[in-house]
Amino acid sequence: MSESVPPPSGTARVRAEIDLEALRGNVRSLRARASGAALMAVVKADAYGHGAVPCALAAKEAGADWLGTATPEEALALREAGLPGRMLCWLWAPGGPWREAIAADVDVSVSDPWALREAAGAARAEGRPARIHLKADTGLGRGGCQPADWPDLVAAALAAQEEGLVRVVGLWSHFACADEPGHPATDAQLARFREMVAYAEARGVEPEVRHIANSPALLTRPDTHFDLVRAGIATYGVSPSPELGSAAGLGLRPVMRLSADLVLVKDVPGGHGVSYGHHYVTPGDTTLGLVPAGYADGIPRHASGAGPVLVAGKLRTVAGRVAMDQFVVDLGGDRPEPGSEAVLFGAGDLGEPTAEDWAQACGTIAYEIVTRIGVRVPRVYVNEHPTG
Ligand SMILES: *Cc1c(COP(=O)(O)O)cnc(C)c1O
Repeated sequence: MSESVPPPSGTARVRAEIDLEALRGNVRSLRARASGAALMAVVKADAYGHGAVPCALAAKEAGADWLGTATPEEALALREAGLPGRMLCWLWAPGGPWREAIAADVDVSVSDPWALREAAGAARAEGRPARIHLKADTGLGRGGCQPADWPDLVAAALAAQEEGLVRVVGLWSHFACADEPGHPATDAQLARFREMVAYAEARGVEPEVRHIANSPALLTRPDTHFDLVRAGIATYGVSPSPELGSAAGLGLRPVMRLSADLVLVKDVPGGHGVSYGHHYVTPGDTTLGLVPAGYADGIPRHASGAGPVLVAGKLRTVAGRVAMDQFVVDLGGDRPEPGSEAVLFGAGDLGEPTAEDWAQACGTIAYEIVTRIGVRVPRVYVNEHPTG
């Protein structure tokens, strides 16, 4: 167990166990499916709630070629922790830490002339070129450069490269609907990407990597793999969407297991209201278990009356509202000891629910379930050291 890790399992009222061997297995499996393309493990948002540094280390151990983050601060923190190798970050604001990124050998994304100017300015000050990936908006309508503005951005980037201020090492984009297999937007985006790449290459850009695939595209569309694939959610063993099937069906193993110790088990009569608003009323004499985790810990309040929990071998449902720090399950007369484990989600092969089940119950996506687990929940790393 590493020193950065909070109290070991057993002393924390609630904990997220992070199985780094499961993560390594996912990385190996994704790499094998990447059609020979390099694999970027996306570790933004604290590795989707799993802990950026331990997950980045494990991903590298398993052969991830690149690391990807949203913000430059996330990438710089990984460098400070000693993570080596290629690293890309893409979510920049004006005035961002461009010089620090260049000095730390972090690749940067550029979607717009302002970003190119800041990258080039920082490179001049740093006395060293910025490695940039020009981002195309092929249809997502979020980040990236619109096709109409692409010729100007490519020309400006080539001019800055001529001056020795940047090296255009990547051409890239991001899908809108890859999690819906067969969605026509994916083919349209792919065609647009090919055109925009061809345009840049015809003007003289020689990218090391062209990349557009996220986890769902990696899993379902080999024709989108190009030179590099960016795997986020699949790295953590979570299916990108129900349409793609379960994690197990995709050959992935969930990395996070969220559990808590029951802090109270008590008899209550029938007709008893439970938790704020009394949205659950006991149907008869029963036992209630108190689970010490709530929306401050990232348990969605939308799980009220819906979230599945495995307690003492039986699947139960959140009874009434999820509160800030706790929720209740109706144990139907069972009397597990206080301290017994309530498993909210895990790998799913021992009868426990999965993050995907929680997403279904809460009307959201499994990405949000794992990523929103709060800072009050210690991450406990298991299988920290590679066995192979
Ligand atoms: C988050 C993100 C990814 C990873 O997406 P997954 O669906 O989690 O694999 C890839 N690329 C970009 C630009 C992202 O923001």
